Amino acid sequence: MTLTVPALAAPTPGAKFERTTVERRDLGPHDVLIDIAFAGICHSDIHQAREEWGKGIFPMVPGHEIAGTVAAVGDDVTRHSVDDRVGVGCFVDSCRECEACLAGEEQFCAKGAVMTYNGRQYSGEETYGGYSTQVVVDERYVLRIPEGITLDVAAPLLCAGITTYSPLRHWGAGPGKKVAVVGMGGLGHMAVKIAHAMGAEVTVLSHSLSKKADGERFGADHYVATSEEGALKGLRTSFDLIISTVGADLPIDQYLATLRLDGAMVFVGLPPTPQSFRVGSLVGGRRSLAGSNIGGIRETQEMLDFCAEHHLGAEIELVRADDVDRAYERVVASDVRYRFVIDTATIPAD
Ligand code: NAP
Ligand code: ZN
Ligand code: ZN
Repeated sequence: MTLTVPALAAPTPGAKFERTTVERRDLGPHDVLIDIAFAGICHSDIHQAREEWGKGIFPMVPGHEIAGTVAAVGDDVTRHSVDDRVGVGCFVDSCRECEACLAGEEQFCAKGAVMTYNGRQYSGEETYGGYSTQVVVDERYVLRIPEGITLDVAAPLLCAGITTYSPLRHWGAGPGKKVAVVGMGGLGHMAVKIAHAMGAEVTVLSHSLSKKADGERFGADHYVATSEEGALKGLRTSFDLIISTVGADLPIDQYLATLRLDGAMVFVGLPPTPQSFRVGSLVGGRRSLAGSNIGGIRETQEMLDFCAEHHLGAEIELVRADDVDRAYERVVASDVRYRFVIDTATIPAD
């Protein structure tokens, strides 16, 4: 018998959310049943629910920033126990045998990781995400949420946290390194907090100065409004690393010019249209232009432990189930401070 659980679904691309139910599979020997307490709203949910990245699977129940507690475990589960505080991020399975999976970089699985929603299990069943009250996930893809972080502020770490932690680690953010964060929304504000906690000197490059005081509170050393004439020109050869969290067109050459010798500009934000740049902007300073995609399970656990140790969580605004459509509008209007999180207890039981 499968479990029927309440959820919020977009019935068709761009449609308003409706209360519905989804089926969760029977607990297999390695499965964990999670009572979801909170689900973050990532801009990627909006891109997918509105089919901005291509065809989606509808009805769609988004949500890949899931935090809750373990309600039940399968017979052979060893990693988690009932009542443990746990999280689930962007994927819920991977092939477990390709080079990427063996290296703990399951997000780059050669077979394609099974995404938490808007995806299919290898058996062909659709996946439904965290805008729901319960989910069943294989224990290997379930993270431990350490004591010291409450579940509501932990939820966004499962995507926004790991997506920024991973490139900051990979490109060596730390003492003596100058890091710029472009865009201070859900991902960007976590990038500022994490880069600061790693010991880097952090500059926010935002469209305006409206969030400057917040940026400084999160640990930014400098805060620049890119809409001001000549702002980027004044920053030539300043940074070792730029993390762009912007999902829109960017004047890439102007950003590349702010990198020092051997600096890297790394995209985590995903503009829907092709971007262009002059090769000379790279050649001039042996610079790199790169991208990064969430993070593997091992690194996600490392990020959660790092955040607990440094007392970092997301800045959140809790929303009710009937406020999700309005929250989407506010994210699109850059009116988010800094992550909306759904209190799943407000999803009607029937
Ligand atoms: P968000 O909360 O909406 O933040 C994006 C920020 O970008 C905004 O707060 C704004 O910051 C800036 N921005 C927005 N529109 C802009 C425009 N037209 N021009 C310049 N700047 C603009 O979104 P998010 O949830 O952080 O996600 C950001 C992007 O990352 C999305 O494209 C999402 O799909 C993608 N993403 C990628 C991964 C990955 O693994 N690679 C994971 C999660 C999300 P300011 O007001 O400070 O300028
Ligand atoms: Zn996300
Ligand atoms: Zn694999």
